[in-house]
Amino acid sequence: MAALLAAASLHAAPREKSVVVSPEIRATISAGDEVALLVRPLPGESLDAFARRLTDDPKSKRQIRAANGGIPHLKPGRFVRVPYRLLASSYRKIAMEALFPADRATAAGWEHRVTALSGKPESLWRIAEWFTGAGTRYKDIRAEGAIASLETRTGQVVLVPGRLLMQPFREAVAAAAPAPESEAPRLEFGEDAQGRYAIYRLKKGEALYSAVVVRFTGRLHAEDVNAKAAEIAERNGIPDVHAMPVGFPVKIPVADLSPEFRPPDDPERIEQEKARLEAAQFANTVRSADLSGVTLVLDAGHGGRDTGAIVDGLEEAAYVYDIACRVERLVRGRTKARVVPTIGRDAPCAGPQAETVADFRSARVLTTPPYAIEDAAVGVNFRWYLANSIYKNVRKSGGQEDRTVFLSLHADSLHPAVRGTMIYVPGEKFLNDSYGKTGEPYQSRREVRETPRVSFSRKEKIESEGISTDLAEHIVAAFRSADLPLHAFEPVRRNVIRGGREWVPAILRYNRIPARVLVEICNLNNPDDRRLLRTRAYRERVAGALVGALIDFYGGTATVAGVPAAGTSR
Ligand SMILES: [Zn+2]
Repeated sequence: MAALLAAASLHAAPREKSVVVSPEIRATISAGDEVALLVRPLPGESLDAFARRLTDDPKSKRQIRAANGGIPHLKPGRFVRVPYRLLASSYRKIAMEALFPADRATAAGWEHRVTALSGKPESLWRIAEWFTGAGTRYKDIRAEGAIASLETRTGQVVLVPGRLLMQPFREAVAAAAPAPESEAPRLEFGEDAQGRYAIYRLKKGEALYSAVVVRFTGRLHAEDVNAKAAEIAERNGIPDVHAMPVGFPVKIPVADLSPEFRPPDDPERIEQEKARLEAAQFANTVRSADLSGVTLVLDAGHGGRDTGAIVDGLEEAAYVYDIACRVERLVRGRTKARVVPTIGRDAPCAGPQAETVADFRSARVLTTPPYAIEDAAVGVNFRWYLANSIYKNVRKSGGQEDRTVFLSLHADSLHPAVRGTMIYVPGEKFLNDSYGKTGEPYQSRREVRETPRVSFSRKEKIESEGISTDLAEHIVAAFRSADLPLHAFEPVRRNVIRGGREWVPAILRYNRIPARVLVEICNLNNPDDRRLLRTRAYRERVAGALVGALIDFYGGTATVAGVPAAGTSR
């Protein structure tokens, strides 16, 4: 976490403290608990564009000017102060998270830890203003929390109930809400002759595979999970992995832990937190409640000779195609979005009532000319080339770049203890600067000749991680409210971890659509997931939740003074 520093060098106000969020953004708090973001304009950005990016109100331009000594226009490289009340709610959340890193979202609401950054404990009024948008709501916060005194004290935890929160805080609460087992478990750290470790005590009914390896090391595939479980058992002097008693203090090497579970001073954890804060500033701010102007590039994974995973006679390609058909029907019926599939086949989509899924062998990627899927890897390359071409030409079809979404549907085959939906987003640090294919069969497709090589700037990579994560979190919230099973510990992932390597799936890696996710609907190796996937009801609900998430992503995020805009579906 970024350290607090006295910001005398930045702006001269005394007692002002600031936190570096990214090279472009600092959060500050000054005497009287006035919060602001100091933001460096993007290259060539006008004051108008700057105000549109940072705030929800076009009239805020004048007030930004006033807050910066009446500057007529922006100077490149020079920080601009945007007072908290002008900020769009997603930026307010960035400011709060930077200034108050000990705050956290729980199932009940937002827990704010009183920190007295400006020298005096912040008042309930200020807390209400920051998190709900209206200081007057201090009464509700006080009543619900049975808070005895109006005076707060440093270290006190004030709970702002979920229903009062501004949208981005409320979303974080919704994401934290679920399954009690996903509450961040407490780890103790220690060191012995074999190095640094964390201790986790197994609870009743917990197994080393899921409660320790899947949760704390991020491994998911059976061979990785089993190998790591055996290693950890050996490290603990336990000959039988299955024989760990309840309460046993399992030592997990710190180097095996996912960064978020490492000690707060761990360099990888610090780096990851910085990267996430940086990406978080690029949450989606485009509103289009009926999805007009939105283009959904819909990719059903596999097809043709590429069956995807096959478990117990259940073929991934057939089932994800069925869900894609349902998504397409619901989007066309409920919204004004345009759906562009990456895959076509001879058999028409089965109707909404169909229990069985239709043939997928004739599936081809809809490049020009189409590619009948012979080779799975070539098929994936053609999908992202096609997606990039759709994106590049989106205006010709009446769409807009910032209203384009890429959704790839798959089903995983992981350790059988893992279940539920997981969503991959393009983690910035796993993306290439530049990539392209040459020769046949690529050269004969129009989409490849149009843009043979794809390249990304650092800003584009960070932006796509941020926007895609925002989209993924909307999907998580929609699945949660539809009561659909989600991966218990970390449903949104920035990379695959397998066999000691880490990467972003190719379909996301070379894709230029900023808002892009790969949804692993469920785990085919888990019997409960398989049973669900075979039912029409589940597939229809999954499709409904995906479409609901898309509507929320574009429609439900406008917040003015803590009041959700009309059209929100929450
Ligand atoms: Zn797949």
